[in-house]
Amino acid sequence: MRCITKVEEPAILRDNAAQWLQDFLADPQDGVKRYRYRHPQIKSSLKLETCDKCIYCESRIGHNTPGDIEHKVPTAKDPNRHFQWSNLSIACTECNRRKNDFYSEHDGFLDPYEDNIDDFLEHHGPVVVSKTGAQRGEVCVNILELCSPKRLALVSQKILKLTELQNLLERFNAAQPGPLKEVLKRQLVQMASVGSEYSAMVRAALIAKGYGPLLDPPAP
Ligand SMILES: [Zn+2]
Repeated sequence: MRCITKVEEPAILRDNAAQWLQDFLADPQDGVKRYRYRHPQIKSSLKLETCDKCIYCESRIGHNTPGDIEHKVPTAKDPNRHFQWSNLSIACTECNRRKNDFYSEHDGFLDPYEDNIDDFLEHHGPVVVSKTGAQRGEVCVNILELCSPKRLALVSQKILKLTELQNLLERFNAAQPGPLKEVLKRQLVQMASVGSEYSAMVRAALIAKGYGPLLDPPAP
């Protein structure tokens, strides 16, 4: 999970959210009225701000990992936020299904748009755990089963990513100073950047191996 910045509300939602909400509240079982948030303009804005990734596990949304529009505060808890731009995001089907209608008023679910995620979660290889005492992080990891044998597909994908990282690091270390080393360095930085899959894990792995200065070069 990485911090995310909301992009501008798409015009279709800005112009229609109030009416759509009124229609939905009057007839909540009507599929057309309920799912108007699936409009292509809304989905493309959400994909832009999430870099096409699940906001919780950072899996790339694609053919193997279908994604759903996620209501951060579930509609079952607050129907008035059903079409609210700040409440909409994208999660993979696996995270979405697990979070479902979970909501805690006092101990809100981790929100990558609002919370500094690094204060709550840490990565040890493919394992993500809550920081000591970070109860909201612990709730999030447990509800999403981010660190559970029940999510073997996710853990396997993360291990593959770490293998890719290791191979790249070996090539980087073996390269003589020059253009090739620069290209490999750029690839390493890219793998840890916010748009890349499992970037929080990759970034943590690079820092743990002593490559932090590559990612955050000291000021000249
Ligand atoms: Zn996910």
